[in-house]
Amino acid sequence: MATIGWLVDVLRAAGVQVVVEGDWLNRARPGSFDPIGVLWHHTAATSSASNPHPALNICINGRPDLAGPLCQALVDYHGVFHVISAGRCNHAGVSGGSGPIPAGDGNTLMIGWEIDYNGVDQRMTTAQYDAAVAATAAVLTRLGRDASYARGHRETSTTGKIDPSFIDLNAMRADVAAKMSGGGGGWSSIVDNSTAGRFTASGNWGVSTYSGQRYGADYRYADPVAASDAAWYRFNVPRTGNYRVEAWWPANAGYNAATPYVVATTIGNRTVYVDQRATGGQWRTLGTFTLAAGDADRVAVSRWSSAAGLVVADAVRLTEV
Ligand SMILES: [Zn+2]
Repeated sequence: MATIGWLVDVLRAAGVQVVVEGDWLNRARPGSFDPIGVLWHHTAATSSASNPHPALNICINGRPDLAGPLCQALVDYHGVFHVISAGRCNHAGVSGGSGPIPAGDGNTLMIGWEIDYNGVDQRMTTAQYDAAVAATAAVLTRLGRDASYARGHRETSTTGKIDPSFIDLNAMRADVAAKMSGGGGGWSSIVDNSTAGRFTASGNWGVSTYSGQRYGADYRYADPVAASDAAWYRFNVPRTGNYRVEAWWPANAGYNAATPYVVATTIGNRTVYVDQRATGGQWRTLGTFTLAAGDADRVAVSRWSSAAGLVVADAVRLTEV
C-alpha cells in the first residue's frame, strides 16, 4: 500500500500551517491507496475561534459506524492543517465518477480534507478556504495532476452527500489552477521586531526573551492603554495587489485576549483582533488585504485593547496571493 509521507513537507513548503497529529505516518485503514486527486469535505461540526477543530477527534478515531482515520487532514477554523494520516482513510466511500476521477473506490483514488464547519448555517472561513486552495494546489503538483483532479464530495458521492456546502467548486478549481500556475507572483517578506529599519516602536515597548515561542532573538511588549502608541512594520510591497497578512506571536496566559493588528490597505486601515494567550509560535493568518505598491508602514500592533494583559509585537509576514 502506498503512503504519502511527503504530505507534511509539501504543505509546509506551500506556506500552509501544519499541526502533526501523533503517529500520522502509520495511522491508516487497511487496503489500497493510490491517490490521483484531492476531495474536499465539510465536517458538519460547528467550529469557532475558541473551538477551532471540534471534529478532530472523530476524524482521527472514527465513530461507531465508521473506523478512523476519516481524512488525511482536518482544516481548522484558522486554516491550520491537522495532518492525521499518510495512508488510506474512510472519507470518500464509493466514487460515482466526477471529472477525471473515475468511478470506483474513492478512498483509494483520493486524498481528503475535512474542513471543520457545519455547512448548514456556517460557511468555511476565508482562512480555511485559502489554506485548502494552497494545500490542494501543492498536493496536485506533487501528484503530477492538474486542478481538475480537485473535487467536492457532493460531486463524487453515490449516496447524496452535500459537502462541501456554500462553495462553488468550479471557482475553487479555478483558484487552485491559478495557484498552480504561479499566479500572484508569490512574493513574500518577513519583518521581525529586530529587522533593521523596518520596525518602529516607542520606548514604552519593552524587550523580552521570556517565551520560547518567540520569532528570532526577542520580541516587544507593552501594557494595553487607551492611546495611540502602535508598533509598526514597514514593507516594500512590489506591486498593488492582494496580500495575505500573517502574524507570529509567543503565547502566554498573561498576554492580551484581544490584541489589535492594524493593516493599512488601499481602502483605509483595517483592524483584526487576535488572542495572544493562545496559538503562539506559528504564523497565523489575519486575512487577505489589498495593499498599494511602495515602501511604507503596513501593519501595526496597537496597544489600544479593551482586554487585560500585555500586547506583544513579534513578527509579521506578507505574501502575495
Ligand atoms: Zn464528505
